[in-house]
Amino acid sequence: MTNDLRAPLKGIVIDPGHGGNDSGATSGNFQEKDFALEASLYMYDRFRDLGIPVALTRDSDITLSEPTRVNEILAPYGNTSDVLVISNHLNAGGSEGAEVIYALRNTDELAQLVLQEIGNEGQIMRKYYQLRDSEDPSQDAFAIMSDTENTTPLMIFYGFIDNPNDIQKIQENLIDYAEAVVRAVARYYGYSYVSPDGEKDNIYIVQSGDSLWSIARKFGTTVDAIKRLNNLTSNTLQVGQKLLLPTIEEELPEPDYITHTVVAGDTLYKLAATYNSSVDAIMKSNNLQSTVLSIGQVLRIPTSGEIETPPVEENVIYTVQKGDSLWAIAQRYGIRVDDIITANNLTSSNLSIGQKLIIPSTSTAPPTTTTYTVQKGDSLWSIAQKFGTTVSAIRNLNNLSSDTLSIGQQLKIPSSSTTPPTSTIYTIQKGDSLWSIAQKFGTTVSAIRSLNNLSSDILSIGQQLKIPK
Ligand SMILES: [Zn+2]
Repeated sequence: MTNDLRAPLKGIVIDPGHGGNDSGATSGNFQEKDFALEASLYMYDRFRDLGIPVALTRDSDITLSEPTRVNEILAPYGNTSDVLVISNHLNAGGSEGAEVIYALRNTDELAQLVLQEIGNEGQIMRKYYQLRDSEDPSQDAFAIMSDTENTTPLMIFYGFIDNPNDIQKIQENLIDYAEAVVRAVARYYGYSYVSPDGEKDNIYIVQSGDSLWSIARKFGTTVDAIKRLNNLTSNTLQVGQKLLLPTIEEELPEPDYITHTVVAGDTLYKLAATYNSSVDAIMKSNNLQSTVLSIGQVLRIPTSGEIETPPVEENVIYTVQKGDSLWAIAQRYGIRVDDIITANNLTSSNLSIGQKLIIPSTSTAPPTTTTYTVQKGDSLWSIAQKFGTTVSAIRNLNNLSSDTLSIGQQLKIPSSSTTPPTSTIYTIQKGDSLWSIAQKFGTTVSAIRSLNNLSSDILSIGQQLKIPK
């Protein structure tokens, strides 16, 4: 399927950087030219599978002079802007993450999409940018951009060959990063993307009366997921607009890890029970040789991260997840805490993991939120502070699976009108720790400590604690 709104695409020329006598960047036995060729050959096959015209500047380890390389780029499809050039590279210099360079004559849209998709595969997104020649700033720094006439070139750097984390990621995931580029390019040019597993993009045409919220509900996904997938910056839709919807595969939860710092009294068995994990899984995830833990030790705890999506029925049934609070759930569904308490005849605000809650559909309107664009230096914590809310409320509202933010990312922030009461009282149960309570209420140990003026972390059963909200 092609999308008339998109720029036409005559063909793609894939350029494996360097080659032959020119190894590109090296580190130990690693040579940039080999990775560039591997990614390029993979992409070439994938674009052919998708029915997109594609050519290569080299398909083996040969030396290309700069003029020859430019000729190879211009030969297959000519020199117009509907020819995309993808030049594959690794970086060097000790930094970490992926970069995309685009030409001075082009806009940043595709470069941004490509970097975003590589980021979705777990690579750090450093930047997408233009690079000017230091002697003649009216020109691009690289011949592959300055000498390729009107084509649309991208230089993609998948990581730093001399950074240990990057080279490990590249050895393990280069094909996934290459696939990410294929996905970004296919979607950008309006081709229906089909994954290597045969999973097809799911296209929905906006009908009169639709909102992002109603579409998300109908297809069991989230407004955020739709916006991300379609690179939407606003919630405004037009009738007839084509929207990409997440396929079921894309919505499957990533293996989920929770970080736990060992406190006095912790055992692997206790942690496994607390987090619905197993001793074996925790030992494997941390390469533990013994079951002895030391206080302060940081463990990665694998959990079964099931994402609940609201079904279409009038009353939604929600299964309580780790870290949930009534307030966070209410926020997620745009209703009041009292609505949940009433609908479920709750006598306490304590929730247990796995508990089923009726979410009354008193409101089909989206939660009242404001949108905040992440700035340099922001963290979830600083944003939560700024808006008088909690990290977990922001996490829940945006379905964040990680706390890593990128500059320019848009976050929904619970609005002040639905800001929770400042504190609530909790009675200590057997097995509670400050940490588990903080998790349960989406707050932090130090916030509970300071609200209650605690000088020690030792709790007694029946003790009453004020919990900040
Ligand atoms: Zn290079």
